[in-house]
Amino acid sequence: MTHIATHNADTDLSQYRVKGEIPVPTLIGWLTLAAVPLLVFFAYRSSLRGDPTAPTVLVIFAGLLAANGIAYLIRHSSTLQRRGFITIITALFTYLAVQAVEDGSAIIWLFAYPPIIFYISQSRVGVFACAGGLAAVAVLFSPIGDLVFDAPYSTSFRLTMIAVLAFEMSTCYVLDQSRRRSKLGLLKLARDFEYAAKHDALTGLANRREVLSQLDNEYQRYLRNSRVFSVLLMDIDLFKSVNDNYGHHIGDEMIVLVASTLKEQCRKVDTLARWGGEEYLVLLPETGTEEAVKTANRIRKAVSSKSVSAEGQAIAATISVGVATICDDESVDRLLQRADEGLYRAKTLGRNTVCEFEGAFTD
Ligand code: GH3
Ligand code: MG
Ligand code: MG
Repeated sequence: MTHIATHNADTDLSQYRVKGEIPVPTLIGWLTLAAVPLLVFFAYRSSLRGDPTAPTVLVIFAGLLAANGIAYLIRHSSTLQRRGFITIITALFTYLAVQAVEDGSAIIWLFAYPPIIFYISQSRVGVFACAGGLAAVAVLFSPIGDLVFDAPYSTSFRLTMIAVLAFEMSTCYVLDQSRRRSKLGLLKLARDFEYAAKHDALTGLANRREVLSQLDNEYQRYLRNSRVFSVLLMDIDLFKSVNDNYGHHIGDEMIVLVASTLKEQCRKVDTLARWGGEEYLVLLPETGTEEAVKTANRIRKAVSSKSVSAEGQAIAATISVGVATICDDESVDRLLQRADEGLYRAKTLGRNTVCEFEGAFTD
């Protein structure tokens, strides 16, 4: 799933799909398929009754809807499809109401408008379209409407129609808001789960699984274009004694301190991970040994300049680093093994040291 910024209920959420949700273009497609034969049928009925204009107008609307559907199939623009559909049905419903098609009963189709509009467009568009629709019906039912359109609706029908339409529009709005909020909640939950599955809770660095997946991506790139990458395997020196002497929470503070130093010292493209308890793995894409060793030493020095305070004293942290750069056709496992051997050497050489598999680099 893509990363999702913070939303409110009016954000265009149509770009994010929740399982089980009907996509807007699909819904518009089905509505078009249902509306075209229905319009043709009512055009036929109007022609039997000798209505001079309704058959032609209804067939034109059917044609416009069909053309909008075909345009979507050709151009795949869901925005154009949605805008076209809203424009056509708004004009169609206005026509049905004003011309009192089917002895004035066609105005009842207006009840289909609010749920469709709210589902296929943003909440704000739905509110404007419904308010505009209700105002238009009110004008049509007013004495002015009678003067201009000579509408055949009885007073009781007008009052009931307006009241029920307003009630339906409000209900659709409330349901739509609730649907959007549920969707936002699900998207946020999915984002939180995705984050938790990929990150370490204490430091916010990538976890072991995530860095292994990034390593695999980088390895595939290396196989394709031979651009080497390096890994730095780091371990806090004599960390057990920090835990033993000052307590676990000071140990945790030191783990976080080293993590934040890594964030300061590395590039955006590097993957920083908590590999284990007080071990870290840094993946440096497109980086050869020399540059990797430089980076490792920069990090090592930065860490050694920092400290956590406990019992009124500053406790300095140091790290040892094993560096390995991918070469020939070795596997990722072999690369990690070499980094581990480098780290082991750094520990045996006295710690606070950077070691590539073949030699020591301390300055
Ligand atoms: P060396 O320099 O050889 O690495 O010595 P060390 O003491 O750092 O090495 P060792 O592997 O013996 O100690 C690691 C300790 O880290 C043991 C374990 O209790 C501790 N540890 C592992 N995970 C955590 C954690 O999340 N928080 C804290 N506070 N301690 C942890
Ligand atoms: Mg360790
Ligand atoms: Mg250690």
